[in-house]
Amino acid sequence: MTRRLLLALGLILAALLAVPQGASADDKMKVAASFSILGDMVKQVGDDRVDVVTFVGPNGDAHVYEPTPADAKALSESKILFINGLGLEGWMTRLENSSGFKGKVVTASTGVNPRKMVEDEKTITDPHAWQSLANGRLYVTNIRDGLIAVDPEGKSFYEANTAKYLDEIVKEESDVKAALAALPQDRRKIITSHGAFGYFGAAYGLEIIAPEGVSTESEASARDVAKIIRQIKAEHIPAVFMENITDHRLLDQIASETGAKIGGELYTDALSPADGPAPSYLDMFRHNVGALTAALSS
Ligand SMILES: [Zn+2]
Repeated sequence: MTRRLLLALGLILAALLAVPQGASADDKMKVAASFSILGDMVKQVGDDRVDVVTFVGPNGDAHVYEPTPADAKALSESKILFINGLGLEGWMTRLENSSGFKGKVVTASTGVNPRKMVEDEKTITDPHAWQSLANGRLYVTNIRDGLIAVDPEGKSFYEANTAKYLDEIVKEESDVKAALAALPQDRRKIITSHGAFGYFGAAYGLEIIAPEGVSTESEASARDVAKIIRQIKAEHIPAVFMENITDHRLLDQIASETGAKIGGELYTDALSPADGPAPSYLDMFRHNVGALTAALSS
């Protein structure tokens, strides 16, 4: 064997030995998150130490979901499960039971001041708390604490990622407030198809009108639509918005009968795929605020 070859082999060996511990997917801690927005937050905090499986993916509806056998297997292999809580994931208990999952469950919305919403003529707890960035910061600290509880060796890693992410959220929060504060007072009302913006409206000074009696689980009747059209005319609502998870035909009809502007698509309960306009929690805010200000500022 030549010296040159030995040297080359030595370099390869050195390179192999230099691979850091924890770099392969098998060594990462498996964690589960119920839906895409939460999954992104967990990835931000857990980064390289975790392998995140998300059950309800991009553009999926986290209110209604049919878990698959693959979900049950993935959950059974996970050390920790992050859920939103506030009644969002009615399907999760069944998934937990079928998977035999015995790990830690973290409710990311713990500490949030819950709002109420009306759905199908019933008053329920509004689960969409992530639509306020102040609540998002609570979610992130709950995620951090959960990861530290099951992986104490990663404490300083999770704390550093969390600190950096919280800074980004705070910056986005001030951008959102500044953009929406610039809207005229008489152009701060919107109607959306599914009413997921209660927390958003309360945090940033928009009045969000949800079409009454409409949920992702039921189709609006002709009577519902007529009521909404009267509501838009009476309250001079300037713009209607579609959400990425609900039927667009309802809002098209409303817009054509009232002359209210169609303000584009808002991301509420799910992120977009990676190549879409809202692939992360913070991208979702940037996209939504851009769509809102474009429709409402003139
Ligand atoms: Zn929703």
